[in-house]
Amino acid sequence: MKSKISKSAQELPQLKFKKISKTEAQEKIKDFFSHIKHKSPEEIKKIKKLAMSHNIKLGDKRKLFCKKCLSAYGKDSSISIKNGFITILCGKCDFNNKWKFKEIDLDIIHQETGCC
Ligand SMILES: [Zn+2]
Repeated sequence: MKSKISKSAQELPQLKFKKISKTEAQEKIKDFFSHIKHKSPEEIKKIKKLAMSHNIKLGDKRKLFCKKCLSAYGKDSSISIKNGFITILCGKCDFNNKWKFKEIDLDIIHQETGCC
């Protein structure tokens, strides 16, 4: 007879985030996004979680990586602007990321994708 071992204690969600203040989290996120090009999708996933756990909105920073595969856009991604919408085709998964175009978007994208 197999006896059931209660796993309930192990199954409790474990919060592994170190307790850092919201300000520290914001700093960390800011620093992270200034090096976004060198980050892996796993790292982007983690930073998103961190932001969520501190109720920090990523805002325009969300436009620096693919919504679908969470890769930072690189030279293999292509950008087009049409009818007031900006579209970035992810070079990794071919997903079209689309949002309403604001002038500020161009600054962000040019800085981060390093067009020159
Ligand atoms: Zn992608």
